[in-house]
Amino acid sequence: MTTEGPLNVARPDDERAALLVWMKDTLRPEYGERPLKPRREPLHELISTILSQRTTHADEEAAYQELRMLGDWDAIIAAPTEQVAHSIRRSNYPESKAPRIQATLVALRDSPGGYDLDFLRDLPVRDALKFLTDLPGVGIKTASLVLLFNYARPVFPVDTHVHRITTRVGAIPKMGEQAAHRALLKVLPPAAPFLYELHVNLLRHGQRVCSWHDPKCGVCVLKSRCDAHAQYGDQVPAWKG
Ligand code: SF4
Repeated sequence: MTTEGPLNVARPDDERAALLVWMKDTLRPEYGERPLKPRREPLHELISTILSQRTTHADEEAAYQELRMLGDWDAIIAAPTEQVAHSIRRSNYPESKAPRIQATLVALRDSPGGYDLDFLRDLPVRDALKFLTDLPGVGIKTASLVLLFNYARPVFPVDTHVHRITTRVGAIPKMGEQAAHRALLKVLPPAAPFLYELHVNLLRHGQRVCSWHDPKCGVCVLKSRCDAHAQYGDQVPAWKG
């Protein structure tokens, strides 16, 4: 199987910005307008996002529900780590996630706001991101999800679908997921509803059309402006992110 070569290396920022606006507008008729409203409590979002890494949504949810059966957050901190790992066994890598979850909860418990994250609503975005990414188990994607989904802050979570599609289309050059957060945020409008809709609809598009191994370019609404399709036609190779 062939693999992707370098895509869209040279493209000015204003073109990248216009391309992202076009992608958002083009995906809306396919997947709908997506009003921004929190799907779960902030700390639930934070812990569930840690559980979601390399895990299906159903297993993530099952792991979270069983974790909460251990008791309140203090009880989860106090529980033996092996017991926490067992409770989240439906999630992949429970042995590494359990101590990260406990360490994150300890850091929150000992912070001025405790388990209440609502102060993030008013903190400057940069400081809010720093607070969350300073937590032991929290990376930029998780921090961005909590800030955007729960507090309508203008940040852009880059998951595997967002990363793959924005790279294939040519909104960013090929780079790692961490760097993609910065590169995309630099050219996206600082408007939470826009960022939310684009994120959610790219996720849908990645699940249904632009999959990592077998993108269905023939039925893709982004085809007319997609660098990968221009380069490979309907034989876009499997993604190696
Ligand atoms: S044209 Fe193909 S590679 Fe490009 S976004 Fe659509 S499905 Fe993905």
